[in-house]
Amino acid sequence: MMRTYKFRIYISKSIQETIEEHLNICRYLYNYLLEQKTKNPKLNKGDTQKLITEHKKENPELKKVHSKALQMVNNKLWGNLKALGKLKQNGHKVGKLRFKSSKNHYKTIEYNQSGFKIKDNKLYLSKIGEISIKLHRKIKGEIKGVIIKKELTNKWFAFFQVEEEPKPLPKTNKVVGIDLGIDGYTIDSDGNKFENPKFIDETLDKIKKVQKNLSRKVRGSNNYKKTKLKLIKVYDKLNNQKNDFLHKLSRYYINNYDKIVLEDLNIKSMVENKKGQKTLNRHILDGSWKKFINLLLYKAEGAGREVILINPAYTSKKCFNCGCVVSSLRLSDRIFFCPNCGWKIDRDYNASLNILKSGLGESVVPAEGRPLLRVIPYIKVISGQVSPMNQEALPEGRGLRKPKGFRSTPSVREG
Ligand SMILES: [Zn+2]
Repeated sequence: MMRTYKFRIYISKSIQETIEEHLNICRYLYNYLLEQKTKNPKLNKGDTQKLITEHKKENPELKKVHSKALQMVNNKLWGNLKALGKLKQNGHKVGKLRFKSSKNHYKTIEYNQSGFKIKDNKLYLSKIGEISIKLHRKIKGEIKGVIIKKELTNKWFAFFQVEEEPKPLPKTNKVVGIDLGIDGYTIDSDGNKFENPKFIDETLDKIKKVQKNLSRKVRGSNNYKKTKLKLIKVYDKLNNQKNDFLHKLSRYYINNYDKIVLEDLNIKSMVENKKGQKTLNRHILDGSWKKFINLLLYKAEGAGREVILINPAYTSKKCFNCGCVVSSLRLSDRIFFCPNCGWKIDRDYNASLNILKSGLGESVVPAEGRPLLRVIPYIKVISGQVSPMNQEALPEGRGLRKPKGFRSTPSVREG
């Protein structure tokens, strides 16, 4: 499986000029290939690849760029065409693929298989030169390719794609259902409620402040540019904090469970988008949920775990205890109460139990009484101090079926 390593690189002015020249050539080639493809829609990926070789004769400037990097331009074009096709397939209104008319629309140079080398904190790129690199982590595995990119913060980075051997984790014989929420980031069927990280709110306040500041500046002025860069940096910080949290939380679930069941957000968001405008906070949260699921899927692959995505219909409104649907439950109701059987439980906890049941497709005997949640502060996640809940190990292959039901969990506030 592929893993990406990101490292900061430090480049001299002359190298920067070379990279920018290469970016321009790649962008030109991208547009050229797209134009040819537009004129002749029958062209396939191999055809446009051949066009590069032919076009080199007419346009020797292309030879300044490493041949693999040019090949990757073709790859990028076909990757974009494929993504567009997929959107269309899913019923989205999409136009044609756009030309990269500005420098800002083409920001990466990619080397694949050859043309690069790392030695003693130096990255050597064929036709570009030597670049200082800060290797703060050891790269494990074979490097398949490298992408050079200048981010909006004006910092340069190298992304290495590394082929990694999967490392299966020992079986835990434990399964979990996870409800993704706003009140808690995750609420799971073991009674854990992971707090939504507060830094998101804190950083959002800062973002709003800088945005307000920006709106007062004259567009294009030096002050405007300065404030804009500040805004980008705050966003960047938010992203880094968020990613750190998501990596650690997904690692917790992967380490502790063989099977992890969640709702399929692709189905869920389509339902909720109809309700109209989303707040910035909600927007960021939505994006982070998708990222969280992707991290779980990616980590599960390497660890030999299983992630099951289920249809979210009725996960909230169905009583886990007796199965009847309580349609009067409103979004603001934090406690689920079933008038049919009297089951009373935290609404997200009830949802996580339904999610688990739906994912495993097995009968579950519910706990008696009112299971309580263990609230885990996000800071514990970031500092890696979360220990798993005691869950009775299940007999191999029997999923969730437990004759005496799961025990109601004590209410503990950690930290
Ligand atoms: Zn009920």
